[in-house]
Amino acid sequence: EIAVSGLQKHYGDYHALRDIDLTIPSGSLTALLGPSGSGKSTLLRAIAGLEVPDGGVVRIGGEDVTFVPPQRREIGFVFQHYAAFKHLTVRDNVGFGPSIRKLPKDEIRQRVDELLEIVGLDGYQDRYPSQLSGGQRQRMALARALAVQPKVLLLDEPFGALDAKVREDLRQWLRQLQTETGVTTVLVTHDQEEALDVADHIAVLAEGRIEQWGTPREVYDEPANDFVKGFLGPTA
Ligand code: ATP
Ligand code: MG
Repeated sequence: EIAVSGLQKHYGDYHALRDIDLTIPSGSLTALLGPSGSGKSTLLRAIAGLEVPDGGVVRIGGEDVTFVPPQRREIGFVFQHYAAFKHLTVRDNVGFGPSIRKLPKDEIRQRVDELLEIVGLDGYQDRYPSQLSGGQRQRMALARALAVQPKVLLLDEPFGALDAKVREDLRQWLRQLQTETGVTTVLVTHDQEEALDVADHIAVLAEGRIEQWGTPREVYDEPANDFVKGFLGPTA
């Protein structure tokens, strides 16, 4: 479980997160949905430990991790413009996390091969990132994030740069992977359809506040206010 309470973040005078309370049950997928600038990435970065909040607490699995550095949080993350190591093969990119944790080489190799099979990149081990399509690169990024066997997977618009068809395939695939591995997942998106489709819960953000939290059905059928209603738009 991830539990955020009373979270505050300022950038100078700008109040980016305003008293955020959010609980993400173990093994579930929560989508953070909201317009540009609403604080989605800031909240995700605070959960990741890449951003230290000015107030409030972040707990992962019951432990207060507010001031714990990212590499000690047992998380995997993928960002929109994923930076792969260009000079490393797919195998070495995916195995990078485990190798810096000094796991035995044959164990790393086995884990990497398993993950590449799960993400549908079996046989691509010896390619370089430049020899993959955009969707394949994002899947490699997900395999890399999972390679450290995180309890928590944090995804910031991981499919943002891809075309609609690939996006849809990847999100179905993500849903399946998430169900199979049971990894607690937070997915940032401004695509309402994506959120309604894959999430167990949706948190709708605006101006650093959570306007509504609920299941896709609840948010879709019973928008809490005019903002949520308007944001979900005509397809809602
Ligand atoms: P998008 O959908 O465009 O990615 P977002 O919801 O992820 O938007 P954030 O990146 O969390 O938005 O930013 C929230 C607000 O905080 C924005 O107004 C942004 O300009 C501001 N902000 C974010 N990071 C910084 C920073 N390092 N310094 C100053 N302001 C920042
Ligand atoms: Mg963002």
